[in-house]
Amino acid sequence: IELRELLLSRIKDVADYPKAGVVFKDITPLLADAEAFGALTDALVDLCVRHRVTKVVGLEARGFILGAPVAVRANVGFVPVRKAGKLPGATLGQAYELEYGTAEIEIHADALTPGDRVLVIDDVLATGGTAEASLQLVRRAGGEVAGLAVLLELGFLNGRERLAAELKDAPLEAL
Ligand code: IMP
Repeated sequence: IELRELLLSRIKDVADYPKAGVVFKDITPLLADAEAFGALTDALVDLCVRHRVTKVVGLEARGFILGAPVAVRANVGFVPVRKAGKLPGATLGQAYELEYGTAEIEIHADALTPGDRVLVIDDVLATGGTAEASLQLVRRAGGEVAGLAVLLELGFLNGRERLAAELKDAPLEAL
C-alpha cells in the first residue's frame, strides 16, 4: 500500500495529451524523485529475484529507463525491444494493432539464450497491444516469460484480459 501510494503520488495526469480526450499519465515526476524511482527499482529487483530472472527486456522508450537500473542491480543483462528499424543486427519483428493502423516492434534475434527467464518491463499497460507483441517476441527469440511488470496499469482498457492467453502462467505485476 505504501509503495503504491508513493508511486501514484509521483505520476501526473496530463489532460488532452497526445490528443483531445486522452488523459496521459506522465511518469517524469517519478523519475525525478530519487525516493520514488529508487523504491520502484527496488520492487522490480525483488521481482527479478523472486522469479529467478536471467534477462530484463525493456520496451522502448520508458521501459529502457525503468529496466536498465533493474538489470544492473539484479546482476542480469538488459535487452531492448525497439520500434521497427532501430536495431542494427538481425531481428525478429512482431506487428500489432493500434487504434488506427498497426505498429511493429523488434528484438535482436540472438539477444536471448534458450532457457533465459525474462522479465518484460514497461511503464504503462494500456490496451496491452505492446506488451502482447513483446511477450510473443521473447518466446520467438527463445526466452521463457518469467513475468511482465509495469509501473501503472490502466484497468479500464482491459489490457490484463487481452494478455491472459499470451501470459499463460506468468504473472502480470502492476506496481
Ligand atoms: P498499449 O499497447 O495500448 O498497452 O500501450 C502501452 C504503450 O503505450 C506503452 O509502451 C506506454 O509507454 C504507452 N502509453 C500508453 N498510454 C500511456 C500513458 O498514459 N502514459 C505513458 N505511456 C503510455
